[in-house]
Amino acid sequence: MKKEDRTSEHNDASGHALEIRDVQQTTCIVVGAGPAGAVLSYMLARKGIDVMLLESHLDFDRDFRGDTLHPSILEVMDELGLADRLLQLPHTKLSLVAPPAAATGSRLQFDLHDLKTKFPYVAFMPQTRFLAFMTSEAQRFSSFHLVMGARVEELLEEEGQVRGVRYRALDGWHEVRALLTVGTDGRFSRMRRLAGFEPIASSPPMDVLWLRLSRKSDEPHGLMGRIGGGRALICLEREDHWQIGYIIGKGTYQQVHAAGLEALRQGIAETAPEFADRVAELQDWKQVSMLSVEANRLKRWYRPGLLLLGDAAHVMSPAGGNGINYAIMDAVAAANILTAPLQAGRVTVADLARVQRRREWPTRIIQTIVNAMQDSLLKAALDPNGSFTLPAFLGWPPVRKLPPLIFGFGIRPEHVQQDARRHKQRPTAVTWIAGLITVLALVWIIRRLTRIKLARDHEPIHDG
Ligand SMILES: Cc1cc2nc3c(=O)[nH]c(=O)nc-3n(C[C@H](O)[C@H](O)[C@H](O)COP(=O)(O)OP(=O)(O)OC[C@H]3O[C@@H](n4cnc5c(N)ncnc54)[C@H](O)[C@@H]3O)c2cc1C
Repeated sequence: MKKEDRTSEHNDASGHALEIRDVQQTTCIVVGAGPAGAVLSYMLARKGIDVMLLESHLDFDRDFRGDTLHPSILEVMDELGLADRLLQLPHTKLSLVAPPAAATGSRLQFDLHDLKTKFPYVAFMPQTRFLAFMTSEAQRFSSFHLVMGARVEELLEEEGQVRGVRYRALDGWHEVRALLTVGTDGRFSRMRRLAGFEPIASSPPMDVLWLRLSRKSDEPHGLMGRIGGGRALICLEREDHWQIGYIIGKGTYQQVHAAGLEALRQGIAETAPEFADRVAELQDWKQVSMLSVEANRLKRWYRPGLLLLGDAAHVMSPAGGNGINYAIMDAVAAANILTAPLQAGRVTVADLARVQRRREWPTRIIQTIVNAMQDSLLKAALDPNGSFTLPAFLGWPPVRKLPPLIFGFGIRPEHVQQDARRHKQRPTAVTWIAGLITVLALVWIIRRLTRIKLARDHEPIHDG
């Protein structure tokens, strides 16, 4: 990385003069140290590519963010030689997934133990810990440069090409120039706005209140859901507590708040009676975080010199717990595809389009599945007599392997390129979906043929 200490002046978009303290040159700028940015920067830096990771916050402290590391992510960590060290950090493991159901009544459970992987579970680890781990591992490479407290506010554009960014830090404005700029700055992406991209929203009809309740050592493990009386809860087992997601209708937070904390406590206790003995732990609205659930996607993820990944390109609804997985899979695909062009010093629009082509359809498929699930879940949740049951065929022996596979690996798991050949080929969710469609199509054809044959056999015989 080259740094030129020179003070220059530049007018911002509203005509105000800004003093630029220095101009730095790197190969790739990554804006936003979330899961996508941290993994992409690590993967490029380990290949000797000069990377500057700019993060607007001064630390990684986040509460109630996605904390799920799926088997696909753990496999990537393993391929990078990081899994053992990562899993030495405190975490909990989740292998049983029970979709939401009434407190009483039979429940379909999916077991990740059946997955053929070294990591048949979702590791729950605070995102703060994961990001601190990834960035400290990346510091081992001299080509990695992390700047905390660097809020990117402007794109540098010349002749229709993005050439870098300007960021504001505590000591003033800085300019960084690069061959490629990658925006991994999350659901409210400024890079997306600066690039002039408008996302296509598929607004989920719900918001979520996140809160904590204590957990007893003899309680069930994993993830469970509860529905009843016009409410729905998602309960995630954490190190020493339950992380509870209380689902409410979109935009109804003010009403829920106005109804008071006691009504919220009662609502939780009625939906999940096992928590009645501890809802009193909720004493203040400060213990409750409101998540406005969004889902959207960009039609185009790139412009010359600029690529958007993760939530910046497609906000995933938290309903499926997919956001981190898809953000990291984008990062792995981008690193695989762009390492050689970056090393060669020439990244074309076609290279960036390849990244979108590879990652767009898995994202769209999962968004469609989650939207459909979310709609019926919410309909059931907000109807006092409603109930939510998964289609019975999901319990059939061959089919029941599909949900854990999709949950654990996503639609198209990515692998670190040089290790891909060593990687044992496992049937992916795509293979399973294709297999299922083929079987259903065959059954349909056979039934049609036998019906035609039966009809022929029963045709009246006319003589003459
Ligand atoms: C309350 C909540 C719960 C969730 N639960 C889950 C879950 O259980 N499982 C799951 O998989 N997903 C979950 N998600 C979604 C998940 O957190 C995101 O999908 C995932 O973090 C996206 O990763 P990312 O790297 O694309 O962006 P982010 O994680 O959003 O990271 C973006 C980073 O960019 C930085 N940034 C923003 N603007 C700038 C700027 N101008 N300059 C510099 N830096 C900037 C931000 O500070 C941030 O660090 C949840 C999300 C929320 C909000």
